[in-house]
Amino acid sequence: MTAFGTFFLPGPTEVRPEVLAAMQGPMLPHRGAAFEALFARIQGHLRPVFRTARPVYVATASATGLMEGAIRCAPSGAVLALVNGAFSERFAQIAEACGRPVTRVGGEWHRAVPLDAVEAALRTGRYAAVTVVHSETSTGVLTPLPPLAQLARAHGARLLVDSVTGLGGAPVETDAWGLDFVLTGSQKALALPPGLAFGVASADYIRDAAAVPGRGLYFDLVEYEEAVHKHQTPNTPALSLLYATDVQGAHLAAETVEARWARHAAMAAATHAWVGTLRDATGAPFCIYAPAGERSPTVTAVALPPGVAGGEVVRDVARAGFTIGDGYGRLKGRTIRIGHMGDHTMEGLSRCLAAVGDALRARLAAGG
Ligand SMILES: *Cc1c(COP(=O)(O)O)cnc(C)c1O
Repeated sequence: MTAFGTFFLPGPTEVRPEVLAAMQGPMLPHRGAAFEALFARIQGHLRPVFRTARPVYVATASATGLMEGAIRCAPSGAVLALVNGAFSERFAQIAEACGRPVTRVGGEWHRAVPLDAVEAALRTGRYAAVTVVHSETSTGVLTPLPPLAQLARAHGARLLVDSVTGLGGAPVETDAWGLDFVLTGSQKALALPPGLAFGVASADYIRDAAAVPGRGLYFDLVEYEEAVHKHQTPNTPALSLLYATDVQGAHLAAETVEARWARHAAMAAATHAWVGTLRDATGAPFCIYAPAGERSPTVTAVALPPGVAGGEVVRDVARAGFTIGDGYGRLKGRTIRIGHMGDHTMEGLSRCLAAVGDALRARLAAGG
């Protein structure tokens, strides 16, 4: 087994050995006191990460499951989808697949969707819900949530937030910002294995959800709300992953969410500085895909000079013992993505960036 600190994919992220080991716990009846105690502990660990007094729904699904649940349980009517990358486009497609009329706003991949465009759309009064991806994992663009939440509320629309690569790495204030639904997956900034999705609904959202027809069953959040108060899940949970969440949750609590945010901000700053150094040292036009002020603290997409192919760089870096990501969607091949999220340290990241720098310089020297 390789030492921790080599796997910098923007999801799944590297999982610490003790978290993996926790999955070997025994099977338990999921309607019973031992399970309910485990579930209650997990609630205690995750609420501070979401910064909420509301319960945290735990779904045995990848994050996409709760994206679908968020749409299905949103008030009936049209959805305004903020699209600035592959995952936000996916959110729009999920809404369409659930039979919602969808209007996309934005469409440019290099920045957050401008607020004035969102406001102009909302002013038509046509929308029951707004979808946004907080940290676009395909581009590394971070969308500021508080002004969006204010706009949505002012126009009577619910704000549904995919913070899959945000939560646990970037500040999210679910209650203070008045977010109607926030979701994440286990395998990104929370540094758990894949297979669970976590979500928090505002009291208003879930009250209204009970009257929405066609919510389906597996992702009916009204069922999650009822179960969570009994320290249960509606269906058989992925118990082994819940053991992992309990151990990782204690680690999150010990680190504190504020320290986690600071560590991610520092890792992002180091990655940004590294791109600048690389550009100065090589004279090649390496640049950070996201503009300053709109950069995710958890993932950086680096645009490559012409002639340098993302897939080849990823392979060279793998030979040096590190895993990073190729570009995603329409940026595949033209960017590389470094996931500086989860439990990574500055030391581990520095080693990874040195290996990526070596690979890039070798490619340039070889003429791309
Ligand atoms: C990874 C990711 C998803 C999809 O998550 P799954 O767990 O694969 O369903 C959705 N949104 C964003 C922003 C992501 O990074």
